Amino acid sequence: MTQRTLSIIKPDAVQRNLQGAIMKMIQDSGLKIVAMKMLRLSKDEARGFYDVHKDRPFFDSLTDYMSSGPIVVSILEGENGIDKYREIMGATNPENAQEGTIRKAYALDIEKNSVHGSDAPETAQVEMAYFFSKMEMVG
Ligand code: GDP
Repeated sequence: MTQRTLSIIKPDAVQRNLQGAIMKMIQDSGLKIVAMKMLRLSKDEARGFYDVHKDRPFFDSLTDYMSSGPIVVSILEGENGIDKYREIMGATNPENAQEGTIRKAYALDIEKNSVHGSDAPETAQVEMAYFFSKMEMVG
């Protein structure tokens, strides 16, 4: 089944100039980019995006970090696109990420882990709409 998913290249990766290297890993996997832009979240926008984590102890630190610098958001499309992107991202904690994954290659720690990808069709819908209008989904 062809699926769309939301990807974020997080502030730690943009700050280290890794947008191109990460997009190359994504594109080499066969996923297609159907929308893309660079922006900086405010603290409130980061809180809104990560609302499901609002009761977790790391919420304040996570939303500080996510609003600390520019990010690159994109919508990716492909066969089983949601799980496929989660696979090439690797585990949340880079210490557990497999060889060949984005997080294994670039993540700094469990928080500054370089990329985000939606985890299910319902969250993908909400997350894509958080950043993109229909008109911007051009692929
Ligand atoms: P993901 O789906 O792999 O991104 O992981 P989660 O949905 O569980 O967590 C969302 C994001 O919160 C992660 O990508 C990390 O940036 C951050 N995060 C997750 N777990 C921790 C933690 O234990 N400590 C801190 N500081 N950040 C975390």
